[in-house]
Amino acid sequence: MKILLIEDEEKLAQALKRGLEFGGYTVDIVPDGKKGLTRASLHRDDYDVVILDLMLPSMDGHEICRQMRAADVTLPILILTARAETDTKVDLLLSGADDYLVKPFSFAELSARLQALLRRPSQNLPEKLTAGDVELDPSTREVRRGDTKLPLTLKEFSLLEYFMRHPNQVVNREDLLNHLWDFNYVGFSNVVDVHVKNLRRKLGGASDEGLLETVRGVGYRLHA
Ligand code: CA
Repeated sequence: MKILLIEDEEKLAQALKRGLEFGGYTVDIVPDGKKGLTRASLHRDDYDVVILDLMLPSMDGHEICRQMRAADVTLPILILTARAETDTKVDLLLSGADDYLVKPFSFAELSARLQALLRRPSQNLPEKLTAGDVELDPSTREVRRGDTKLPLTLKEFSLLEYFMRHPNQVVNREDLLNHLWDFNYVGFSNVVDVHVKNLRRKLGGASDEGLLETVRGVGYRLHA
């Protein structure tokens, strides 16, 4: 497992690298925002996860996240933030991060979050799911529409998997928030909408209402 650590606090970065390498990971440190974005974009296939500090020279973590997702980099992103405000957390998830840790955090906490992001599906997972010409394979985390492999992030994959496990049912936003996000702040269903919008775009266009219908005021329904 190879980790890209974008962090400019040298002591922290080195301590994390030592700890993670002791745990069997390989770690590359990039101490600059723009350089980190470039590395993640150009070498996306070399890494299994990105650990991203929020306050960085030349470009902040929010912007790096947004640009990675806009470039269809699907690597799991774990943000390290010194801020604990609620709105920042929502911003993080909206910008495409999969999870975040508030500094200071324990190494055990970091390890647990990483394992959750890197969790490889076990052998006993169910077979492929299909809806129309969309095929989702839980064992490889791959999604295809026809012959095209879709570059979904972890969250988009989880969303689609949830919809496909509840075909032709109305799934409401609160269910999605509760099942797919670790927190369930009331009134933040916007987070769900943003991820659904991205999922739709990747499924074949923002207007693909045929597959994933919006049920006004309630949630969504996947037609299978
Ligand atoms: Ca920093």
